[in-house]
Amino acid sequence: MLIDTHAHINFSDFAEDREEIMARAYELGVKKILHSCCRVSEIEELIRLGYEYDISDSMANLFIAVGVHPIEVSSWEDNHAQLIREIIKREFESHRHKIRAIGETGLDYFHCQELSDQEKQKEIFQEQIQLAKEFSLPLIIHTRDAWNDTLDILKTNFKNSTSDRNGTIHCYTGDLDFAKACIDLGFFISWSGILTFKKTENLREVAKKLPLKRTLIETDCPYLAPQAKRGKRNEPSYVNYVAECLSEVYNLEQQEIAKQTTSNAEYLFQL
Ligand SMILES: [Zn+2]
Repeated sequence: MLIDTHAHINFSDFAEDREEIMARAYELGVKKILHSCCRVSEIEELIRLGYEYDISDSMANLFIAVGVHPIEVSSWEDNHAQLIREIIKREFESHRHKIRAIGETGLDYFHCQELSDQEKQKEIFQEQIQLAKEFSLPLIIHTRDAWNDTLDILKTNFKNSTSDRNGTIHCYTGDLDFAKACIDLGFFISWSGILTFKKTENLREVAKKLPLKRTLIETDCPYLAPQAKRGKRNEPSYVNYVAECLSEVYNLEQQEIAKQTTSNAEYLFQL
């Protein structure tokens, strides 16, 4: 069994064949998927999908995160933190609720080069960290070209934390030092299809030096299809390729990689 810890199956890319995608994931061992969230306007739809794809013996079980992506800061309004808070409280009253994380949130200076936008990203990131702490939910962190600021914010918030399930750095593309610093702060490192690309030997070198116990796998579908499917639409079942790549990196049976990353994801997100 595998878990895709980061997917966007609500995107229009899957409008035609979402059922098939969820069934294929299940068939190929991906029994659970964590759906990331980019905008507040998506949340109710994701909650509906979470209830629609619940425990079954033919389709993957969908869990969800709630949050706002750093490149969507312009969609953020002053009442949004409160709105998310109320939705989480409402959902937590149901024993079937599927909310398991806050995110994706973080900093993306690649897409936002204006200083004022970057400042706004930091504020919104901080508000979401607050929500994560309030509800004891792990964070899904997106960080791009903003390593120092991301680490500063994580250190400020988590250096005194005794928890080892504060969140994950999704779709990891950083260096060994950043990964180790995040693990020390109670975070996991999540590898996507990028790990399988021909040119990313540097990432595989980083992966090799990190403890498998702090490692997750994901697709970030529909983006970032693995090397074997490069240029195509990505989907949750392709997380198998990431597991295969990790088994080469660690020189372990793929089954061992599946077992450990699944147990890590279940522990972090309480799946
Ligand atoms: Zn994403």
